[in-house]
Amino acid sequence: MRAEILSVGTELLLGDILNTNAQYLAKELAALGIELYYQTVVGDNPKRLEETLYHAFSRADLVITTGGLGPTDDDLTKETAVKYFDEPLVLDEKALEQIQVIFDRMGKEMTENNRKQAFVPENNGVVMYNANGTAPGIIIEKDGKIIIMLPGPPKEVVPMFENQAKPFLARKQEYTFISRVLRVASVGESAMEAMVKDLIDAQINPTIAPYAKDGEALLRITAKAKDEAEANRLIDPVATALKERLGKSVYAEGETNMETEVAKLLVAQKKTIAVAESCTGGEISSQLVRFPGISEVFLEGCVTYSNEAKMKSLGVSEETLAKFGAVSKETAIEMAEGIAKAAGAQIGIATTGIAGPDGGSKDKPVGLVYIGLYNNGIVEAKEFHFAGNRNKVRERATFQALDWLRRKLQYEK
Ligand code: AMP
Ligand code: MG
Repeated sequence: MRAEILSVGTELLLGDILNTNAQYLAKELAALGIELYYQTVVGDNPKRLEETLYHAFSRADLVITTGGLGPTDDDLTKETAVKYFDEPLVLDEKALEQIQVIFDRMGKEMTENNRKQAFVPENNGVVMYNANGTAPGIIIEKDGKIIIMLPGPPKEVVPMFENQAKPFLARKQEYTFISRVLRVASVGESAMEAMVKDLIDAQINPTIAPYAKDGEALLRITAKAKDEAEANRLIDPVATALKERLGKSVYAEGETNMETEVAKLLVAQKKTIAVAESCTGGEISSQLVRFPGISEVFLEGCVTYSNEAKMKSLGVSEETLAKFGAVSKETAIEMAEGIAKAAGAQIGIATTGIAGPDGGSKDKPVGLVYIGLYNNGIVEAKEFHFAGNRNKVRERATFQALDWLRRKLQYEK
């Protein structure tokens, strides 16, 4: 089955809104194993909408539209589709009732325009009742062509597709495509690829695809199978082989992120933590605090930017700052130990670095960051060199600090 996504709405052409429906649907179609060859966008214009729909059906078996099912005169998707399929529209009492309920709830009179939304094809149609808005979605299937018409607002599109259109499409597909993602930290995308290249090359089903996203490297394992259970049976041994190869660098599977994984470990192990940040400016604390339940272990976070603050709040010595500088291994060590002791925490983590664009020198270039880690009486610091602009350096320093802590918690206990 070849599909095309047709997004209807002048606001999309004007750049007023982002076409998130198309992105969502494209991902869903890929997961269903339906080939998507084109995505088109057309405004609320009857002639151009008709041309675009006919053109779409000249090269696709399935067209999924979003938008243009509203009550106003410029909402024309349904009218155009029934013209293409040569199907008359009839009033659907259930759809009308649901629209009435929404108006009653708002305490408003339903207008004649809204009745228009309750009209559906007399034959060859499936009505997708809308629990989140007035416009029902509609599927028409005739002579080997299928149109799935969805409303515009994403909060209506997603549940309607998930609960009604997707099962309809899945029944037509012999196979489904199921993916699992391994998240890899502190190994670049190309280094990671080199480490598992032979495994990638040897795989046909499932396939393995490396990619980079927001500073981490990901491996997506995708299986083609009759159902989810079969897909998991195919994926499991491949995931295991990849994890063996990449070792401690694989920090999680699926939809999660580093701060969540670190926060989970801290809470599970009941390890209290305090954070002292210079160049990351509170980012480590802020990320950890996103995790509900972190209050059990997160005691304190300090942004100690100036030398004075490092001395006053963390007890970093004046000699250390004078001799080695604020951006040094020695300072990072005193910061990590200082915050742990000040807060009475088992773990102290600290950052100090040169995020740029100014402030770098030959000895201490922009991107140089020291991370200090105090853990139950032992304190260490590591030197990092991060590429990128000021905020990239800060992001990467945050990620590395959390990853170092993750490795300690996971493997050293
Ligand atoms: P419509 O049903 O065409 O009147 O669309 C209703 C609303 O849904 C629009 O005003 C947008 O806010 C939203 N919308 C429509 N199409 C899209 C799209 N492709 N992606 C994201 N939002 C959309
Ligand atoms: Mg519209």
